Amino acid sequence: MIKANPNFAKIQASYLFSDIARRVADFSKKNPDAKLIRMGIGDVTRALPSACVKAMAKATEEMGVDATFHGYGPDHGYGFLREAIAQNDFRSRGADISPDEIFISDGAKCDTGNFQELFAQDVRIAVPDPVYPVYVDTNVMAGRTGGNINGRYEGLIYLDSTAENGFVPDVPDTHADLIYLCFPNNPTGAVASADRLKKWVEYARENKALILFDAAYEAFIRDKDIPHSIYEIPGAREVAVEFRSFSKTAGFTGTRCGYTVVPADCRVFAENGSEIMLQPMWARRMSTKFNGVSYPVQRAAEAVYSEEGKEQTKMLVDGYLANAAVIRDKLRAKGFSPTGGDNSPYVWFDTGMDSWEFFDRLLNEAQVVVTPGSGFGRCGNGYARISAFNSMENVLEAMERIDRII
Ligand code: PLP
Repeated sequence: MIKANPNFAKIQASYLFSDIARRVADFSKKNPDAKLIRMGIGDVTRALPSACVKAMAKATEEMGVDATFHGYGPDHGYGFLREAIAQNDFRSRGADISPDEIFISDGAKCDTGNFQELFAQDVRIAVPDPVYPVYVDTNVMAGRTGGNINGRYEGLIYLDSTAENGFVPDVPDTHADLIYLCFPNNPTGAVASADRLKKWVEYARENKALILFDAAYEAFIRDKDIPHSIYEIPGAREVAVEFRSFSKTAGFTGTRCGYTVVPADCRVFAENGSEIMLQPMWARRMSTKFNGVSYPVQRAAEAVYSEEGKEQTKMLVDGYLANAAVIRDKLRAKGFSPTGGDNSPYVWFDTGMDSWEFFDRLLNEAQVVVTPGSGFGRCGNGYARISAFNSMENVLEAMERIDRII
C-alpha cells in the first residue's frame, strides 16, 4: 500500500487565493457586466525592461548556433551573473559577499520553501504572523509541526507583527533555532531598521540560531537608512541566509530567476554540538535536485545590472511606488493609518471590520478586489492588503470607487 505523507492532511484546506477566486467568480457570474479591478494580486503587471529582453533575445540566438550553444550550465549559476550580483547588490553597499556565496535559482519561492530540508526534524521554528505562507506550509509538509488549532500550527513560535511593534516583530523571550524574517514585508509592507535587524542578528548569535531573510522586495526600498541586505549588519554572515528575486525587481515573475546567498561562514550544528558549514550543504542540495536556470534567462538577469537595466528597473519600481503612494494617501485621507507603500508595493491597513466582510463589501459595492489580511495569519484579522501592481489608471479608478463607499 502506498501511504500518503500524513503531514499534508494538516495543511489548512482553505487557501487564501482560491477562496478569493471563488468569491470573485461567483460575483462575476451574477454580474457579468461589472468591470472588476484587481488590487489583490502579488504579480507584476508591467513588461520586462527592454535591456533584459534584448539580452534574452541575443542569448537565444546564441543557443541556435553550435559555436555559441550552451547545454547544462555551471551548477550554481553562470559566473557573469554571480559576479554582477555580488558587486551590485552587496559590495556596493559595503556588504562583504563574494560570487561563490551566491546560488542562482528559479526564484525565491522554491528557495525559501526548499531551504528547510537542511535542518533537523526537531528544530524550533519562529515565523512572523502575518506571514508569506510558504515558510509555514513547507515546514508543515516536512512534519515539523503538530496540527492546526484555531489557525496556528502546534510547535511553531509565532512572532506577532502588530501596530504596536510597527509590524516588525521583537525577538522572542524563548529559544528558537530557525527564524524566518521578510523585509520589506509581504503582506504588511513594513521595513526593518538597522537597529531592529541588529537585535535579530544578536539573538541568532546568542541562541546558535539561523535567520532565513527573505528580501524579495528589496528593490522597493527608497529610504536611505533602511538596510537592503541583512549582511549590512555586522556579524550576520555567520547566522543568516538571504533570499532575493528578480520577480518584483525587474518583472521576472513569469521569466523566473532569483538567488540565495549562503555565506562561507554560515554554520549549523551537529547533534554533538560541533559546527557544520551550511554552504556545502546547500551546494550539495542544489546540485542534487536542481539543474539550473536557462542561459537566456541568466543573461536577462545579468542585464538588470547594466547601466540601461538599472535605469529601466528603477523606473519600473518607481511606477509601482507611485501607485502605492496614491493608495496610501487616499486611505490616510479617509482616516485609516496604513503601513507600507513607501518602501514596498503593499499597503496594509486596519479596515475596522472583519477582513472578509470588508473584502465582500469592496467586491459587491465597488467591484474592487483586495486581499483579506486574515488569510496571512491571526494577526491579520481585520486588516486588508492592497497591492500596487497595476496600472496607474486602474489604481486611480479603484481608489475613487473605494472612496465613494467607505
Ligand atoms: N517571497 C515573498 C515574500 C513573496 O511575496 C514572493 C512572491 O510573491 C516570493 C518570495 C516569491 O518570489 P519568486 O517569484 O522569486 O518565486
